[in-house]
Amino acid sequence: MAYSNNSSSRFSNRSNSSSNRYNNSSRSSFGSRSRFGGAGGGRRYGRKKSGPKQLDQSLFVKVAKPTPAAEVVISHTFADFGFADWIQQALTEKGMINPTPIQDQSIKSIMEGKDIIGLAATGTGKTLAFLLPLLHKMTNNPKDSAVILAPTRELALQIEQELHKITNRGKGIYSTVCIGGTPIRKQMFRLSRHNQFIIATPGRFKDLINRKSIDMNSFSTIVLDEVDRMLDMGFIDEIRYILELLPKNTQKLFFSATTEGKTKQLMETFLVDPVSVLLSENISSNNVHQDIVPVTRNDNKMDLLMDILNKDEVKKVLIFCETKIAVENLYRDLQQHGFDVESIHGDKTQMHRQIALKKFKNNEAWIMIGTDVASRGIDVGDITHVINYELPRTEEDYIHRIGRTGRGGKIGWALTFVKHQ
Ligand code: AMP
Repeated sequence: MAYSNNSSSRFSNRSNSSSNRYNNSSRSSFGSRSRFGGAGGGRRYGRKKSGPKQLDQSLFVKVAKPTPAAEVVISHTFADFGFADWIQQALTEKGMINPTPIQDQSIKSIMEGKDIIGLAATGTGKTLAFLLPLLHKMTNNPKDSAVILAPTRELALQIEQELHKITNRGKGIYSTVCIGGTPIRKQMFRLSRHNQFIIATPGRFKDLINRKSIDMNSFSTIVLDEVDRMLDMGFIDEIRYILELLPKNTQKLFFSATTEGKTKQLMETFLVDPVSVLLSENISSNNVHQDIVPVTRNDNKMDLLMDILNKDEVKKVLIFCETKIAVENLYRDLQQHGFDVESIHGDKTQMHRQIALKKFKNNEAWIMIGTDVASRGIDVGDITHVINYELPRTEEDYIHRIGRTGRGGKIGWALTFVKHQ
């Protein structure tokens, strides 16, 4: 069982109420209390009436089954793709020799100019899967440009960071990030020179098109990252508008966690003979132990949370709440109990969101609390636990949340608080 009972406090000033109840109560561990179908006779909870509570709670319980390395067959090394020398050199310097499965299966087709549907979970290396072949293309044709659309500001910034990892901000490759919450005039100024990469959120990008700062005929490639998420967030009109303005022969690369519903329709309308790279399973969630934390009427939810946070193995935590207000309330409560915590949600300025993210990445804060949308772009490799303090609205949200842990071959934990009468 992953949760030991001998947790010791990591905080000098934590409240007495957070002393470990798992030591001295019948609640011996999450597993023995809550695992469905286990020998201990875990019970299946009924469906709830509305909103997020309609999710079948068995979704939240799963033992991690890391994919054995031998099962994933990688048929190339990076050197096989024939990238421009400087790209190959940058990869070698970073110690990146072997592509991840999504890179292995998509880079060649992207280099051949084909449209792509990449079904890839978070943390699978999908950003370099499209950036590397595009960088190669732009080395040969420096006048080419690509637009990359992402659902959130954070993801857009992270894509640019991945780009900088390879280019070191040089090599004649220019990029501009066009996102809301930052001055549009500065972006318009940067767009007045040639950029090989424009990385944008759909709303701001459309705004810049309307202000005539974007020449849609200049793009030879468009990447839609996390298409499903952009559609979930209501960007369908913006995306259709943008796709319709592009030259007919623009190469289109769609990455998504699903190819169902509206995403499927969009793909059918705009992609020409796409190559599908469908990784068989959501690799990152295979690495995640998932369990519920039952909350009875007599429980204080905050105490339960602090019990978990006080366990030694809980080292870096992303906590999800449903609303901005809930995030702020929990943030204040945890801070008052002496936890090093940061928060991220849509009411914070872009600068505050970036500072919070940086502190979390640098371990100045080991707990981050966020809403689904704001946490979407968080790419922090060493998150040990995702805690769903409030339930996700949809199964997709759940998968995206838990994909923030169990990265880089490590095992992560996802714990979901569930009301239990
Ligand atoms: P992504 O799924 O694009 O968010 O990538 C997750 C992380 O994996 C990023 O920090 C990448 O720099 C890293 N990464 C991507 N491809 C590779 C690779 N082939 N080898 C090692 N690390 C990689």
